[in-house]
Amino acid sequence: MSDPTADATALAERVQDGELRLYELDDYADAETAAAARREFIECETGASLDSVGEYTFAAESAEPNIENMIGGAQLPMGVAGPVTVDGGAAADEYYLPLATTEGALVASVNRGLGTIEAAGGATARVTDSGMTRAPVFRVAGVAEAETVVEWVADNRERLREAAESTTSHGELLDVDPYVVGDNVFLRFVYDTKDAMGMNMATIATRETAEVIEAETPAEMVALSGNLCSDKKPAAINAVEGRGRTVTADVVLPRDLVNERLDTTPEAMAEGNTRKNLVGSAKAASLGFNAHAANTVAAAFLATGQDAAQVVEGANAITTMDAREEGLYASVSLAALELGTVGGGTGLATQGEALEILGLGGGGDPPGANADAFAEVIATGALAGELSLVAAFCSRHLASAHEELGR
Ligand code: NAP
Repeated sequence: MSDPTADATALAERVQDGELRLYELDDYADAETAAAARREFIECETGASLDSVGEYTFAAESAEPNIENMIGGAQLPMGVAGPVTVDGGAAADEYYLPLATTEGALVASVNRGLGTIEAAGGATARVTDSGMTRAPVFRVAGVAEAETVVEWVADNRERLREAAESTTSHGELLDVDPYVVGDNVFLRFVYDTKDAMGMNMATIATRETAEVIEAETPAEMVALSGNLCSDKKPAAINAVEGRGRTVTADVVLPRDLVNERLDTTPEAMAEGNTRKNLVGSAKAASLGFNAHAANTVAAAFLATGQDAAQVVEGANAITTMDAREEGLYASVSLAALELGTVGGGTGLATQGEALEILGLGGGGDPPGANADAFAEVIATGALAGELSLVAAFCSRHLASAHEELGR
């Protein structure tokens, strides 16, 4: 039973006495008081001072869907890069990109790239594919039974769509891709999750379809996620098939801009990109063929309340550069950018404000347009970071920039 008058110190003492567990405090006090009691307890136990952790700007109750055993907030410096004009399928504006990071020189690097892109008239960007996936694994007797299950799924697509979409007013089931391995059947469900990153939405919808499959076929579900999804793990399937938004940003930089702003030439940039981002990455058997796309993705994700662990997929990008007669063509293609402008951490105070900087907070019109535009802006930011870093290598400025800005 909640007791709003409960005092944090008294509650911390009850935890100390073994009478209450840390996670039970929410049952005895409001979220703010429970967090204060946990801080007191942890301060006593560890000798750490948590004054800064206790200074946070969101309402503790608003974070209840995002955290358990809350003790406060973790703060990061947030910078901004831009403005940059993005001519996208959904993005069509001048944008400032909020970036939260502790890596000195990162915002400056992205900002330099965005400034160069802007001087060339802005970037072009498109979401070329979209779909959040969940892939349960089912046990069957053997390959003959696997075939029966896969055929039933193919013949009953409409029934599965109805089951999945009964759980959500926004999500749409787009596809079910079967994979058979011995007596395992994996069904990779693909959803249009509109402006939500969609991992909860897809998981809940897939659970509903799995119940239908179990009722109608011999398949028995072993795990709602069979790792062929594949979430938060480096996986070639996401690089090839995409997950979340598959998005490309590109630009042609006139020769004089490459000289003036990046202190190098299109030919040197193209060679540097080939030798480093393509050959070097191939030799390393890397899944990402880029210089540091993860940097922009991670900083944008942290600023705007995305699921930080999905930077694993967000780093899966290929950077291309070509010296053309008119200048340098450069592109970044991110295979699996998993993001949303609703749900998850997007509603928290600073994260919501960061999305407001972009003008992309909340649901889009039509639904999905805000998340598409956000993906196109992040891709443009990643392109800027690539241009800036490859140029720093070509002009041999990398170490001095970090010396100046990062130390
Ligand atoms: P969510 O916060 O669980 O749900 C967002 C909800 O917003 C949607 O389900 C939808 O409701 C509603 N909504 C309102 N306007 C919308 C619009 N314009 N477009 C789309 N939806 C709209 O978010 P989620 O994106 O599904 O999941 C993200 C969370 O999942 C993150 O917190 C992440 O950390 C976590 N996560 C979960 C798993 C898992 O396996 N469950 C794995 C990784 C991460 P309706 O569905 O009713 O339409």
